[in-house]
Amino acid sequence: QVQRALRALTIPLERLQVMKNHMMQAMHKGLSQSTHSEATVRMLPTYICATPDGTEKGDFLVVELCQSQVRTLLVTLLGDGNLSPQMMYKTFDMPEEIMTGEGEALFDFIAQCVSQFLADTSSTQERLPLGFVFPFCCRQTQLDKAELISWSKGFSCSDVEGKDVGQLLQSAIKKQELSHVEVVALMNDTVGTMMTCSTEGRPCEVALVMDKGSNCCFMAEAHLVEIAKETSGRMCVNTEWGCFGDNGNLSDIVTPYDECVDNESSSPGEKRFEKMVGSLYLGEIVRHVLITLAAEKALFKGSSVAVLKEKGILKTQQVLEIINNEEGMAVTKRTLEALGLPLNERDCSRVQQICLAVVSRAASLYAAGLAAVLTYMCQSRDMDQLLVNVGVDGELYQGHTRFEEILHSVTRLLAPECVATLLPSTDGSGRGAAMVTAVALRLEAQRRKVNEVLAPLRLSLADLEQVQALMRQEMELGLGQETHANASVRMLPTFVCSTPDGTEQGEFLALDLGGTNFRVLVVHMTEEGIRMASEIYVIPTAIMQGTGEALFDHIIDCIVDFQTKQDLMNHVLPLGFTFSFPCQQVGLDKALLLTWTKGFSASNCVGQDVVQLLREAAQRKHHTGLNVVALVNDTVGTMMSCGYDDPKCEIGLIVGTGTNACYMEEMRNVGTVEGDEGRMCINMEWGAFGDNGCLDHIFTSFDKMVDDQTINPGKQRFEKLISGMYLGEIVRHILLAMAERQLLFHGKPSPKLYCKDIFKTKFLSTIELNGLALRQIRAILEDLDLNASYEDSELMREVCEAVSLRAAQLCAAGLAAVVEKMRENRGLDQLTVTVGVDGTLYKLHPNFSHNLHKTLQDLTPNCTVTFMPSEDGSGKGAALVAAVACR
Ligand code: ADP
Ligand code: MG
Repeated sequence: QVQRALRALTIPLERLQVMKNHMMQAMHKGLSQSTHSEATVRMLPTYICATPDGTEKGDFLVVELCQSQVRTLLVTLLGDGNLSPQMMYKTFDMPEEIMTGEGEALFDFIAQCVSQFLADTSSTQERLPLGFVFPFCCRQTQLDKAELISWSKGFSCSDVEGKDVGQLLQSAIKKQELSHVEVVALMNDTVGTMMTCSTEGRPCEVALVMDKGSNCCFMAEAHLVEIAKETSGRMCVNTEWGCFGDNGNLSDIVTPYDECVDNESSSPGEKRFEKMVGSLYLGEIVRHVLITLAAEKALFKGSSVAVLKEKGILKTQQVLEIINNEEGMAVTKRTLEALGLPLNERDCSRVQQICLAVVSRAASLYAAGLAAVLTYMCQSRDMDQLLVNVGVDGELYQGHTRFEEILHSVTRLLAPECVATLLPSTDGSGRGAAMVTAVALRLEAQRRKVNEVLAPLRLSLADLEQVQALMRQEMELGLGQETHANASVRMLPTFVCSTPDGTEQGEFLALDLGGTNFRVLVVHMTEEGIRMASEIYVIPTAIMQGTGEALFDHIIDCIVDFQTKQDLMNHVLPLGFTFSFPCQQVGLDKALLLTWTKGFSASNCVGQDVVQLLREAAQRKHHTGLNVVALVNDTVGTMMSCGYDDPKCEIGLIVGTGTNACYMEEMRNVGTVEGDEGRMCINMEWGAFGDNGCLDHIFTSFDKMVDDQTINPGKQRFEKLISGMYLGEIVRHILLAMAERQLLFHGKPSPKLYCKDIFKTKFLSTIELNGLALRQIRAILEDLDLNASYEDSELMREVCEAVSLRAAQLCAAGLAAVVEKMRENRGLDQLTVTVGVDGTLYKLHPNFSHNLHKTLQDLTPNCTVTFMPSEDGSGKGAALVAAVACR
């Protein structure tokens, strides 16, 4: 019979595993908006979004409302890793009538306690932040805002339920003329425990309270806490897990003894988990086991056990001492003797076994709950291993080695991927409350400084409208015959006068130079559609920046290689040459290079006809089968390739290594080419917008640093705010500036971060993708040798977002000028137009395209603009230009 009782109290590992899974499901339910209200594990948001990092500094006041007391506390932090906080306490007894009187009287009393306490202290701080520990069930909506849902623990003051207790306390404090005291944070007692157990390099992100009741809190990913609106960062969640099992989740491990305890409690059916682990109940469980076994005559044979009927006669403290190895037997005897129960050796050892079983079960259940939390954190952070401190408070843990051992070992078995270091917390509710307050102020100060750094990058709608107007003005200058020479936006005629009609046919060669890769393509256009084959060739930096002859010789070598591979050596195919640099086009196959951009600087090319340079190289290489028909800018190619599928496509846009746009302009507006009939595609070369100083007011110090380190300082100023070659660099300079202001990396960035171009623009994409890509973010940080805390990586994301948003907005402002001009050109109230787009930044960045579309819509309410990503615009487009020309 004793064995049977012990077995019932022993939960096998597989069952604990199942319970852990149920706990995780319950947590998930509590976090989800749709299931939160019916969840047993409530998962309440606390609005505590960071743990201490040791730099917190200053005086902090704490007020704690306890059972029949008010406790005040002044904590002084020195910014020394929180190693030696100075503390002053005072406790005030509260008259009983206050607990049941008017709410106003309660808060006046608390404020008077604060006032008296401060009279005895010597803080001279101008602003004294206060943390209020208010251990009642609240609906918290901000760190300093929590509505009381209902009183408990003997309190029933009028006019408080449904009100914001932070506000009530602040008003009462004001009445005491303590205008420098400011209520900054409200909290439950659990979170304080977590805030006091961080150690060097390892934050404490979980707290367990193992007292009369049972609770746990931990730092959850904020986007998973759906009832709080924060979507980035982390937030401490108060699990309120004592109610776990109230829906029957624990029914397969609940014993008849637990049922008895539950029935005798003041709230039968509620807090089932707490009633199996809380110190209020462990003695009671043992008592019921003893009653049952005595009734079965398996214990205390022949004696009266009536004394065991009395609730609370066996204390949990006694149970814990009974299982203590050395003196356990003596304690057992003494305890039984005090109860007037018989003292034979066998009974004593059985009682001891029973106590051990009940305590072990509690420890195992705690372990299952903790394992659920740890695994949940590990999974939601997408980590292979979680290293974390767990702050522990409560009478069960302190000094009870058996309990601790079981808790540790079972947690390890149930969550092998997590390494949790359990640390006892000292005065979690008091000191912890001060830490919560201190962290809140640290974040507030940090936020202010971050905003200062990022403010110059944030553009208002008015700023963007101004950029749009300036772009429009520069466009007019670029088109005008007299003004053209001095315009920053060159508005180059392309001699492409119509977009494709879809009937183009034939076989063409195409070259694509001016992007990341140099490519050679063959394009077959048939009635069924377009087929292509292509090959990528590398252009070594030495050739990009060497002589023009070497560059064009290299290009011919690549063409020969391609033709050989494709078995095209004996064909003379019309060739379209996508050449994505600013050119003064004189005809479709004659174009003078105006300037190199994007890292090219080959000598003896500027001012030359690029088609001629290619033909000369072919002669040098004795390649006779080349028929260059058209030189095409990549923007034009992009527009043409999309135009093949959508006749409304009359704009081309590139946002890749560089940025540029083209569009169909009325010939009558093109002052630089003879004739007024029809339209011509204009290659804007808008990357140079601002080179005349007209955008100086929006350049930030970071933009200037990036520009200074390029091979063309002062040139392509608009491009340097927008395109892939530069965004990573802008971010890198901002990160360095933030580190310098102690806002990142503890003020010490890795030496690598000082290297030019080490921070790739594709990193922005990964970082901005948020939680989904945490693993990749860590890879980037490791790559850069950056020792970034979680808060650091959040801030890095904010920086990336600011930079990419600005890029998208400026691009939209430029485009707005174009579509508005087209609308006016055509005398329309409403313009519907398609933009063919190419470029990896546009295509792969997670927010760029959305931000671009949204901003454009805001800027041009009278235009309906559709974006069409081009597929291989430069290759297909160049062939189409050649085909249209041949047609
Ligand atoms: P190009 O403009 O040279 O023809 P792309 O359109 O492929 O070539 O653009 C290349 C640029 O895209 C590079 O400068 C790089 O910084 C950027 N880039 C590459 N991958 C990504 C990515 N995943 N997200 C954002 N930008 C990227
Ligand atoms: Mg390209």
